[in-house]
Amino acid sequence: MKQQLIKAEKLKAVEQMGAAISHEIRNPLTAASGFVQLLQDNHLTRQKQREYLSIVKEELNSAERVIQDYLTFAKPSFVTNEELNVKSELRQIIKIIQPMANQNSVEILTDFAVIGFIKGESQKFRQCFINVLKNAVESMPNGGQLFISSEFSQDYLTIKVKDTGVGMTKEQLDRLGEPFYSTKGSKGTGLGMMVVHSIVRALDGTIWAESELGIGTTFYFEFPTIKHL
Ligand code: ADP
Ligand code: MG
Repeated sequence: MKQQLIKAEKLKAVEQMGAAISHEIRNPLTAASGFVQLLQDNHLTRQKQREYLSIVKEELNSAERVIQDYLTFAKPSFVTNEELNVKSELRQIIKIIQPMANQNSVEILTDFAVIGFIKGESQKFRQCFINVLKNAVESMPNGGQLFISSEFSQDYLTIKVKDTGVGMTKEQLDRLGEPFYSTKGSKGTGLGMMVVHSIVRALDGTIWAESELGIGTTFYFEFPTIKHL
């Protein structure tokens, strides 16, 4: 009975989130489609055409960002109890984020525990850390350093992600993970950290952060390990 209630609640939460996400995707798509219609006018000047095309591109990018921040997480997966090799997972994730880091002149430094396994889904784990690392890189538009490390302490695996970026105020730090909370204007979705929090919870982990304006931000993650050598 209790189990069913929890399921119903979860379903409701997913439905509400789905509605909110659809809205976030539909808006930019509607705008893009409107400008495509305008572009069908043969009498437009070259300059107007260029202007409209760049709006279409920006709106499509905006829809894509929502999908990127959220969708892997929403996708149902059949394997829920994989044994994740944290070190190789993190290496994969860094490969994905590296081009973005290069673009921002961000140097990635790592220090990983020799080996360590946690229980979870690779896809969710990756979505979680891609969102965190993306934020870190975005917090350093003029370059900086991104330190990613993992270590064992007793039965836990700790992952630390530290950036030398813009940092956050106490208020920003408190609001982290709130759906649609973003300081990036039209360049942000405010979904990334919400997804991170849900995934960490699903992996039986905990997350906390320290931040100082103008100095940088450090995220700590703790997950129960299933074995260590
Ligand atoms: P988005 O990245 O789309 O803005 P997120 O949910 O990923 O949304 O992040 C929410 C907000 O948290 C960001 O807009 C930013 O203000 C803040 N934030 C998250 N990570 C960092 C970080 N590493 N450094 C500074 N601010 C951060
Ligand atoms: Mg983000």
